[in-house]
Parts: sequence; structure tokens; C-alpha cells
Amino acid sequence: MKKYDVIIVGTGHGGAQAAIALRQNGFEGSILMIGRDREPPYERPPLSKEYLAGDKPFERVLIRPEKFWQEKGVELLLGQSVTKVMPEMFEVQLGSGDTLGYGRLIWAAGGDARRLDCPGAHLEGVHAVRDKRDVDALLADIEGGAKKFVVIGGGYIGLEAAAVLRKLDCEVVLVEALDRVLSRVAGEDLSRFYEDEHHRQGVELRLGTGVERLVGESRVTGVVLEGGEELPCDAVVVGIGIVPAVGPLIAAGAAAANGVDVSDTCHTSLEKVYAIGDCAAHANPYADGAVIRLESVQNAHDMATTVAKAICGDPQPYDAFPWFWSNQYDLKLQTAGLSLGHDETVLRGNPDERSFSVIYLKDGRVIAVDAVNRTKDYVQGRKLVEARAEIDPALLADTDTLLKDML
Ligand code: ADP
Repeated sequence: MKKYDVIIVGTGHGGAQAAIALRQNGFEGSILMIGRDREPPYERPPLSKEYLAGDKPFERVLIRPEKFWQEKGVELLLGQSVTKVMPEMFEVQLGSGDTLGYGRLIWAAGGDARRLDCPGAHLEGVHAVRDKRDVDALLADIEGGAKKFVVIGGGYIGLEAAAVLRKLDCEVVLVEALDRVLSRVAGEDLSRFYEDEHHRQGVELRLGTGVERLVGESRVTGVVLEGGEELPCDAVVVGIGIVPAVGPLIAAGAAAANGVDVSDTCHTSLEKVYAIGDCAAHANPYADGAVIRLESVQNAHDMATTVAKAICGDPQPYDAFPWFWSNQYDLKLQTAGLSLGHDETVLRGNPDERSFSVIYLKDGRVIAVDAVNRTKDYVQGRKLVEARAEIDPALLADTDTLLKDML
């Protein structure tokens, strides 16, 4: 049986950065990165944006050129999944049945696209947007003439996909179960703004309604909503979140409630096993220590660095500043901080001018900023969030005063 000093499970942003950071911190042991994807590590955010739109070829979304990994002595095992973790033996088992030993295991497997659980969910022409294969299949449908789309889910993925589909001249109806889009991550002002924008761009919205079933023979031809309305379509995009890919860790006995629990150095309850990225439930200092999972490049990247430092003998608690972005049409949304638990919002600027911010307060202190086409507010707002600044809401709303001058 082969043994590696570090086995990294997952070739997303977290996995790739863990390998990079280990080498940057002087780690000289053997590293194996195992990924279900057949491609070397690539960026995920472009999948629902530039890659789907055909604006960026795949080579340009690779996290590093393919030869980089070899040069750094990072072995890649692609198109393979870890199906079992044997924590007493410090071994993992692969889908192929092979067993490999580890000195340290870094679990960076992220999540699987959540599937609809209604009848028809497995028809042809129903697409997730999680990995390259998903998006290539969607693109093949578009090339094959699919014009009419139903997008299910009004989170970032669904909205970004809808925006690209409109750009590609497809018809789009977007279905969101809750009564507003982006409800998981944003306040109502922002949700309403994005709903209006999508409407203006020709997307039909169906809010506050779930999907009852998908219909079609072998291929999907329609989506039936809970109220009975049927939306005819050539294809469906499903963006209803992820299910953390932690099955083997849970089966191995790791403490887990939502994803897998990790300490402030991203250690799980299993000896020598770390977890990072989308699947890692951690106490986040920017959420008042609430235990949360963050699905973002920033979180995957910074947790990877945290683990690399811990493995290299320089453990430092994870306290990285959370940030996010989303591109839809000509709108660049940048978010600093976590709005979770806010009790007040301040609108700064005029949404009609397509450049404004929403500032989130909790107990009078700034905890997050959503900036739409307003990078200055994002950059300067970040400082307010870091300082948990207590600022008069009327002043925050005053666009004649820069946010940086309010500190
Ligand atoms: P993602 O990262 O995939 O965009 P989010 O969790 O941010 O994931 O958003 C998913 C959205 O999909 C949520 O707004 C949720 O309310 C919505 N949703 C979940 N299940 C359904 C469903 N069956 N029909 C319509 N919308 C759904």
C-alpha cells in the first residue's frame, strides 16, 4: 500500500491552495491530491459566468498551468473519489477499491449540487452548475438548439446562469421557492433590485412557488409548479444549493452537524484529519462566533492556508475576512463581511442609477456591505466591517461622505 505524507481530497480552490500553501511554507513531504473531476484544479466561479458565456476558454480557468503541479511535486489522482476513511489506520479507500495511507488528510471535497427530489428530476436536459461536466452538458444543449429554459433556484448560481442564458438569447423563466431571490445571503433591498433587473432583462420570475414535477419522455419538456402552472422548456438549470460532501468522514465518526465540524485550525474530531472550504463548519469571528459553513473562494483559500501553516508547525486560528462577489449582466456585486443576524440596513446611493450599496448593521455596528457597481464602497466598507464601526445610519447613507472618512 502506498503512503503519502499528505493526502488532499478535492481539487477545488481549497484543495489546490492547500497544496500550494504547503509548499510555500516549506513542506517537503509527499502530497497526493485526489479529485473526482477529470481536469486538474480549476476555478469554479467562472462556470456560471464567463465559461458558460463562452468568454473564457477552459485553459484560462485552470488554477495553475497543468505542469505546475508536477514541478511542485504534487501528485494528482483525477477522476477518482475517496469512498471510505479508516481513521484508526490512517488510510483512505478509493472508488477503485485501492487503499492509500496518509500522514495527514485534508478533506476539501466541497459539496455536491443538491438535486431536485420531485418526479422527473433525472430527465435528460436537467442540468446542475457545479463542475465542468455539468456546464459542458448545458452548453451542448444550447448548441443543439435549446432556447427555452427554466432556471430553478434564485441564489447566485441560478441568477448568474439566468443572466448568461439571456445574453445567449435564450428565453428564461426563473423559479424561486421563497418570496424573494438571494434570501440566504442578502437583505430585501438587494433582492428586489436583482429581481427588477432580471425582469428588465427579460427573465420571467416565479417567486414563492416550488416545483411539483418535471415532465417529458426521456428528455425534459416542461416544469410543473406547485400551483399547477406548466412551464414548457427545452432544458432546465437547477441551482438549489449544495449538499456538503462529507459522507465518508461522517461514516468514520467525525463530529458533524452541518458539513463537518472543525476547530479554529480546521482540524476535525478525527486524528490527523483536517477539513476546509464549503464543507467545513467553523466558528466564524465575523458571525460573532456562530458555527457556519461558508461557500466561497475566499473561505476555501484562507482555510487551506490555515491548515498548511498548522501542518508546518505554525498553527494560527482562522480569522480571515469574509468576502464574496457575483457578476450578473453589467452588475458587479461585491460583499464584505457577513450580514447574518443584521437588525438594520442602510441604503447608500440610488439603485436606479445602478450603483449603490446596502450596509448591514447589528446593534448599531457595521457588519457587512453589499456594493453594486461601487467598488469604492466595498473597499472602504471593508474597513468599517473590520472595525465593527458604530456610525450614524444617516451618515452612512450620505453619498457625499466617503465611507473611509467615517471611521
Ligand atoms: P446556490 O449557491 O446554488 O445559488 P443558494 O442556497 O444560495 O444556492 O440558493 C438556492 C436557492 O434555491 C434558494 O434561494 C432556495 O430558496 C431555492 N430553492 C431551493 N429548492 C428549491 C426548489 N425546489 N424550487 C425552487 N427554488 C428552490
